[in-house]
Amino acid sequence: MLLRLHDRLPEPEVESILRFCKELGYRTQLLDGAPLEGAPRYVRLEGGGRPEHRARLEDLTGVREVVDVGRATELHARMAPVPTQPDSLAARPDSCVSVGQARFGGGRLSLIAGPCAIESAERLREIAGAVRAAGATLLRGGAFKPRTSPYSFQGLGRRGLQILREVRAELQIGVVTEVLDPRDVGDVGEVCDMFQIGARSMTNQVLLREVGKTRKPVLLKRSFGATVAEFLSAAEYVLAEGNESVVLCERGIRGFDSVTRNLLDVGAVAHLVQATHLPVIVDPSHAAGRADLVRPLARAGLAAGADGLMIEVHTQPFEVHSDGEQAISAAAFREIVGDARSLARLDGRELVTYEESFERNGNQRIRETIS
Ligand code: PEP
Ligand code: MN
Repeated sequence: MLLRLHDRLPEPEVESILRFCKELGYRTQLLDGAPLEGAPRYVRLEGGGRPEHRARLEDLTGVREVVDVGRATELHARMAPVPTQPDSLAARPDSCVSVGQARFGGGRLSLIAGPCAIESAERLREIAGAVRAAGATLLRGGAFKPRTSPYSFQGLGRRGLQILREVRAELQIGVVTEVLDPRDVGDVGEVCDMFQIGARSMTNQVLLREVGKTRKPVLLKRSFGATVAEFLSAAEYVLAEGNESVVLCERGIRGFDSVTRNLLDVGAVAHLVQATHLPVIVDPSHAAGRADLVRPLARAGLAAGADGLMIEVHTQPFEVHSDGEQAISAAAFREIVGDARSLARLDGRELVTYEESFERNGNQRIRETIS
């Protein structure tokens, strides 16, 4: 790794940077051979190499930039150091995250579907049965809802978690639900197969660290105001705690036009496929904000390389408690499953759908955690 120092840095500050690097465990070498007055000065660092060092070194006022990250690449990055040649980087293969029957990444796609919020046991059971039959491998549904207005329906809370637990056991399908409060990570984790971190929580580092301490998969949604770099840094918080099962979810960012609720950033999806080994999925429901555009946005997301979709589906469109305008029917969802299968095949990938036989053949994890 090379640090480029600011021009004309006083010697005591150079000394202090060298001392700091040594404290981090690096051997340092000041590259001062430039004959010209004012030519850039570099410090070469060898050894050490923890991912968080890059950010700490960038924070030093005397450091202009970290030129070559070398061994200190972040955990989410596609490019990683070669163990036998610490100064060269090679592309990491795609990470595949398994959640119940679902597989995200490494050439496999899965679909998550269900209501925005858990409303009642009967309704969740009905929706779960419909999406499972259509091809979803994971059921979604929020018990704790992060609503923009405090007067909107906030979800059923703990009662919602209990309903989720029952439906999961009855239908033997993995479930994804949002955790809003770091203090709820234990309770939500007892019920769900995958934590959802919502767009509004993407910058809650306390929450990110807390789910990072578990070994349960995390679905991390991009904040509508976050750059791609900020999104990846949020993922890094989870990875840095040792939880390697992170799935990124692009759900639309703030645009200036209200024809859609958000602007689906397909460019970011295509970029992320290259920039990180983590799986990336698309939520066309919150991007569109309208049922009639969910299907085309789903197709666009998959065509850009997404490893799956998360879609809001409801069986009673006139009874939806939240995000009703974007909920699609089970029949409409079935069409998207067909699209996903065709688009996956086009790319030499495979859509994983729910298999009844899986239950009989031993979905051990679901059975063990339920009983
Ligand atoms: C949701 O998935 O229902 C949700 C609240 O999404 P987001 O956090 O992306 O707004
Ligand atoms: Mn919603």
